[in-house]
Amino acid sequence: MTSYKELGLVNTKELFKKAVSGGYAIPAYNFNNMEQMQSIIQACVETKSPVILQVSSGARKYANQNILKNMARGAVEYAHELGYDIPIVLHLDHGDSFELCKDCIETGFSSVMIDGSHLSYDENVALTKKVCELAHSQKDYVTVEGELGVLAGVEDDVSSEHSHYTQPSEVVDFVGKTKVDSLAISIGTSHGRAKFKPEQCTRDANGILIPPPLRFDILEEVEKQIPGFPIVLHGSSSVPIEYVHMIEKYGGKLTDSVGIPEEQLRKAAKSAVCKINIDSDGRLAMTALIRKILVEKPDEFDPRKILGPARDELKKLYAHKNQNVLGSAGRA
Ligand SMILES: [Zn+2]
Repeated sequence: MTSYKELGLVNTKELFKKAVSGGYAIPAYNFNNMEQMQSIIQACVETKSPVILQVSSGARKYANQNILKNMARGAVEYAHELGYDIPIVLHLDHGDSFELCKDCIETGFSSVMIDGSHLSYDENVALTKKVCELAHSQKDYVTVEGELGVLAGVEDDVSSEHSHYTQPSEVVDFVGKTKVDSLAISIGTSHGRAKFKPEQCTRDANGILIPPPLRFDILEEVEKQIPGFPIVLHGSSSVPIEYVHMIEKYGGKLTDSVGIPEEQLRKAAKSAVCKINIDSDGRLAMTALIRKILVEKPDEFDPRKILGPARDELKKLYAHKNQNVLGSAGRA
């Protein structure tokens, strides 16, 4: 049994309160290796931003949960060493069972998501409530994120062919019955790097896909139902075209990539949306730089010379998100 406070972590309670009233969103960046963690912490310390380090069940399988937990502890110490103590949350992304959430709550996570969005409404309520009761009864209160509505796309073990938007009429009942601390909603964001089918988009003069806009009307209706309640957006990578082009220039193939435009996320961050999840953009930046180095320096075989530049690019990307998209810079 490890409490997150022993690791130097915080839950999301205070962070979300400040983010909602301050009109910005906390970045939730996924990580599963050292270079990602270092670049996230470097960027967030440099921009003085709070941060949520997210671990999916796929990441737990890939990297081992104990290693990830200790990396989060290392992240806290690393920020301190870099000269600025930022608030750091360790969050389970898309917990799919009570048992998985329990395991994370008991081993140092300060926040968990229970994703019952694929279940019937009543089953989602029951499962989410059960996780909240456990999380909230810990000596150190663990925060819980629930989800209403289904996102399309593929993310690690989470995939769905069809999305359906969150029904604003359900949110008061859901939040009241479950006692969740935050709510992920579906307003048109999507997991992965091909967020929409080409037929859902239009194309600009250069043939680049322009996605359909987010459903801000649903977001506004949700905000009216539960004023000031923390809202979460998943699947909010922008899929920068420069990285897609770089990957394709150096031998990759990522047909019909399309993300959520940054100006729409900027707008969302100013509302009750207080956590924005970004994973695919980091994957793209890292892959782009690795491909570039491998092609440009065929004699290079030191992984540090290959992953190092990728880490630098990731840091640039995360700092840009904090400063120009989420508005979290200067809030730590
Ligand atoms: Zn997600």
